[in-house]
Formats: sequence, C-alpha cells, structure tokens
Amino acid sequence: MNNFDGIEEPVVVSSVGKKRKPSKDNHEREVRKRVRNSGGGKIPVIACSHSESKNFCHADKLTADDLVKNFDTLYCHTTKAEQDQAILRLITVKRVQRRRPKVAIEDAQKEREVTNEYYLLSKDHPTKVPVCKATFCAALGIGKDRVARVARYYAENAEARPERRGGARKVTENKEKKKLVMDHIQTFTCRASHYGRRGAPGRFGLMV
Ligand SMILES: [Zn+2]
Repeated sequence: MNNFDGIEEPVVVSSVGKKRKPSKDNHEREVRKRVRNSGGGKIPVIACSHSESKNFCHADKLTADDLVKNFDTLYCHTTKAEQDQAILRLITVKRVQRRRPKVAIEDAQKEREVTNEYYLLSKDHPTKVPVCKATFCAALGIGKDRVARVARYYAENAEARPERRGGARKVTENKEKKKLVMDHIQTFTCRASHYGRRGAPGRFGLMV
C-alpha cells in the first residue's frame, strides 16, 4: 500500500483558498450605511419664506405633494452614489458671469468659479421650480456640504460623484506581493509524511 511517505512532490497551489468569504451585505457597517441613506426619520420641509413675486426662489409654489415627490425621487435610490446623481439632476452648475466689486479686505470675498442653481420637481413636470439652497436642502433632507461636494465634483469632472469611501486602495501592490509569495512557495518540494494525511493525495506539509 502506498502511504505517500517519502515521496517528494512539487507544491500545487490551490486556486480556492480556505479563507471565509465575507458577506458584505451583512456587515454591521453596511447595515448602518443603508439606514443612513434611507431618508428614514427625515421630513421634507420648506426652509424659507421666499415667494415667486419677490424672489428668485419660488418656494411658495411648492405643494406638500411636490415635497413628497422630490423626497421620494431621491430616496428611492438606496446608495449614496445613486442619490448623488439624483441630486445632481436637480442642480445646474454655472460659471460665474458677473463679479461684484471687491470688498476692502482681500480675503473677505471668496473667488468662486462656479455658481449653483437649485431646482425641485413640481406637478408641472418637466418644469422645475427654482429654489434657494436652504429649501433645496430641507426639502431633500440633505446637508449643504453634501450638495456642495456633489456640485464641485461635477464642475471639476463633468460627471456624478462615484463612491469614494472605503474599498481596496492598494490592489495592484497587494496582488504583486501575493504573487511573490506564491512563486516562492512553488520553489519548495514537499513530502506527504504526516500520518493524518496518508492516503490523501494533494494535501502536503512543507518540509522546511
Ligand atoms: Zn427660498
């Protein structure tokens, strides 16, 4: 009977590792992320008293149904990247046309290259209602910084902002390291000498 003792054989690197594959959807952090992006607990409101007759912001034209419609249009998307795209569809990013005269202190005026116009959907679709930033944010339940980041990314890259958080950042570097280790392992020969592995071809221990 061949008990595989004393047979030197080259190492065959298994294509399937034994490491447990993580189920990303069940990670606590993913669950928290879904809750954060769900819009739950937020109530769409109008945050100003602007009116069509006096202001560029026509918030007085928005009905309660319009607010719900806008809110749902955003939160029917569950990921941040998709929501950012939905936000972007309601913003018009424009180059600054006219500059006001400089104020005395040089730094007091920010030199903005682009300016954003905010719109919300209405029952007169596809006509959108122009609104101020405060109402835009309050109606959608989002922060002004998020709006600013979405608009800035679009102004610089001409596309919606992808998910830029998390993820593997050194994929190539890690793959190279892994290959070095694999190549090194394959330079060894091994012997199936452990009693527990007798009769189990393909499972070896390295003889170092
Ligand atoms: Zn307003």
